[in-house]
Amino acid sequence: MTVSITTVVNGIHQIHLGATSATLIETGDSPVLIDVGWKWSYNRLKDSLRALGYYPEDISLVAMTHYHPDHSGGMEAFRNKTGAHLAVHDAEALIYTSELPIPPIMYGWKGGFGILNPLLNLVGMHPTPADIILQDKEMLPSVADIEVIHTPGHTAGSVSFYIPSKQTLIVGDAMMYKHGKLSPPHSTFSHDNVVALDSIRKLTQYDCSVVCFSHYPPLIGDAQNQINELAASVG
Ligand SMILES: [Zn+2]
Ligand SMILES: [Zn+2]
Repeated sequence: MTVSITTVVNGIHQIHLGATSATLIETGDSPVLIDVGWKWSYNRLKDSLRALGYYPEDISLVAMTHYHPDHSGGMEAFRNKTGAHLAVHDAEALIYTSELPIPPIMYGWKGGFGILNPLLNLVGMHPTPADIILQDKEMLPSVADIEVIHTPGHTAGSVSFYIPSKQTLIVGDAMMYKHGKLSPPHSTFSHDNVVALDSIRKLTQYDCSVVCFSHYPPLIGDAQNQINELAASVG
């Protein structure tokens, strides 16, 4: 299977999985994977990890940016094959155990898009309870310094990850980066568009030069300025 990987900075790789991506953070013996793609992404993810010199079993921890099926759909397969631990934010943990129903994914158009939600749920996950519940501003249990930043808005439990040694933010779907321009998350797919702007303001506090997204190429170099400008432009 052909693989497609973008090395963002030394030790951080964006693994393309078909309309979505996962991010590998190398930490020595046990790299950390941020998101796992779709329910059907396992083989491609495995081949991508092999291309980077790892076996899937080398991944000790998978941390989720949020529960959407293009990010967490592959978790059941990944955990079954590898035994990796799963870390999710507190606000979404009960979705992974099925104690809470999967919230709507599409909003807007006076709720008309809601008719698509049951279909979207079909590509979602089976119960895959988290091993680690993440809270804002804590560090991931990993050998590398990776900070958890709660950035709600796109979903209630959306998180970004900050790697200070690389001045890199991994934001999942908390922002878009279309045609070289940073913008808030897609309003149709976001749970609370006002809270999403608060999260963008929060991200200005992190000293960064690189931002990784799930659906866009990375922003390299001028990241801090662009985040500051976006935060200022949304008031
Ligand atoms: Zn999403
Ligand atoms: Zn997404």
